Amino acid sequence: MKLLIVGGVAGGASAAARARRLSEDAEIVLFERGPDVSFANCGLPYYVGGEIVERKKLLVTTPEMLRSRFKLDVRTRSSVEAIDRTAKTVRVRDLASGREYEEAYDKLILATGAAPVRPAIPGINLPGVFTLRNLQDTDLIKERVDQGVKQAVLLGGGFISLELAENFVRRGIATTVVEKNKQVLTPFDVEMTTPIATALVAQGVTLLLGRSAEVIEQTAEGLVVCLNSGQRLPAQLVVVGVGVRPENKLAVDAGLKVGPRGGIRVNEHLQTTDPDIYAVGDAIEVKDVVSGDQTQVPLAGPANRQGRIAADNVFGRPTTYRGTQGTAILGFFDRTAAMTGASEKALRRADCPFRKVYVHPTHHAGYYPGADAMTLKLLFDPATGKLLGAQAVGGAGVDKRIDVLAVAIQAGMTVFDLEEMELAYAPQFGSAKDPVNMAGFVAAGLLRGDHPQVDVEAILAAPAAERAFLLDVRTAQEFASGHIPGAVNIPVDDLRSRLAELPRDRKIAAYCQVGQRGYLATRILLQAGHSAANVGGGFKTYQLFQPSA
Ligand code: FAD
Repeated sequence: MKLLIVGGVAGGASAAARARRLSEDAEIVLFERGPDVSFANCGLPYYVGGEIVERKKLLVTTPEMLRSRFKLDVRTRSSVEAIDRTAKTVRVRDLASGREYEEAYDKLILATGAAPVRPAIPGINLPGVFTLRNLQDTDLIKERVDQGVKQAVLLGGGFISLELAENFVRRGIATTVVEKNKQVLTPFDVEMTTPIATALVAQGVTLLLGRSAEVIEQTAEGLVVCLNSGQRLPAQLVVVGVGVRPENKLAVDAGLKVGPRGGIRVNEHLQTTDPDIYAVGDAIEVKDVVSGDQTQVPLAGPANRQGRIAADNVFGRPTTYRGTQGTAILGFFDRTAAMTGASEKALRRADCPFRKVYVHPTHHAGYYPGADAMTLKLLFDPATGKLLGAQAVGGAGVDKRIDVLAVAIQAGMTVFDLEEMELAYAPQFGSAKDPVNMAGFVAAGLLRGDHPQVDVEAILAAPAAERAFLLDVRTAQEFASGHIPGAVNIPVDDLRSRLAELPRDRKIAAYCQVGQRGYLATRILLQAGHSAANVGGGFKTYQLFQPSA
């Protein structure tokens, strides 16, 4: 068996190592266009910021190590230029010498990744304007930063940009993030990004949402990024992080099928439309675990797992790839945002019925020092309670909850399963009712009809004449420090004795800070014959939608 692998980082290196473990005899050649294999893309921003001090730590392994331990024929600075599917050969260009040669294969794995998009605006290729994909890009950015950058502009408010923003702030650089959407981190639902936007501003980052760069100019003082709003942002460094596009040229030229967004089409064995050619990682289309639709999810975990699976299949183990659910996480200083499965906006786009709940628990028992608040949003099927997606934002403990929920989604669990979920607990780690259980209780209560709920957006969207009677059941003090406009305050402890003050001809929307007292108030009101619902997630959720409240 002669196996050729194109691309030597996440997917390619995983495939190569797995292939060798499965076959001592196979001839395995790994081609990588760059000088490095298996480097830690995900660590690159932290090397720029100085959190990762030694460059060599970013090299997870070296060509020498792959040669000696895995007996791989590693060819760096080698670009695969074309595939001849009939002859079963690839044409390789040795970038050091310029020499071109053919290499035959029995099986081929494409792990070519995805390239950063550079929007076609004037000035996008000026010196000082970078994208970040590999160690060479990192070296160039870091060199500039080390020379003393005062102002940097990040185009795009995605994961990589925000990671760079943190690291630029650490380096004392005045940083501006320009994002054309009305939110950062577009895979998330907009309200769940409010705490991250707040954290960016709190760290001194200038956040310009709903704006985009039209031109980048070179002046005597440096670069100027000109926005569609007319703003002119001076900078000595610009990094473009507006998304990635699958590197599919080899596949397309060879006549392999790609999807509408360019991802190489593969079956569940990661085989392309040519049975002797497999493809993995950011270059491919995957099945969305929740919707079943084809999608593209450029993440390291899926790429690594796919590498293993492709190698399994090459060597006769018919393992299958289940699909991707987009489990992703961002750290920004002490804040964390993470998600898994479908977002609310994706469900709306797909016209898929859903319900949602928000809970705002602390990451461990509130009485134990250091409890950090988080917001957890759960999306589920209204008919069956099946989990569809989850997002969380906060600090410590966000990662753990999203990982638990990611597994629950993969296992096809429902909100009723979350009520029953037994998770590790001691006060410094969690709560006897873990945030995951809490979300399950609220969601299951909603589906059982114990807990009628009205969403904040429904309240905001209702014309004044049709609005429910808004009842704030928090204390007078809490009410005074901020409330939903038009609300009337009757603390939950006084509610039973003041029911006569409430209308009988209008629906009452009760709310508290996070939803718990609102739930109790709703139960009191319902049993007193009122039409009532709890505002899901309470005033804290309202503030996600109306950050200035
Ligand atoms: P890559 O790792 O990009 O490897 C593809 C390789 O193929 C490249 O090195 C390229 O040079 C080579 N190649 C392409 N065409 C050819 C050719 N014709 N001939 C030879 N070689 C070729 N994901 C996460 O899940 N979490 C994170 O925290 C995270 N952080 C990231 C931070 C940064 C700065 C970046 C850039 C990415 C990050 N990612 C993260 C994404 C993650 O790195 C990718 O999803 C993953 O590396 C994809 O693996 P891959 O093997 O498909 O592609």
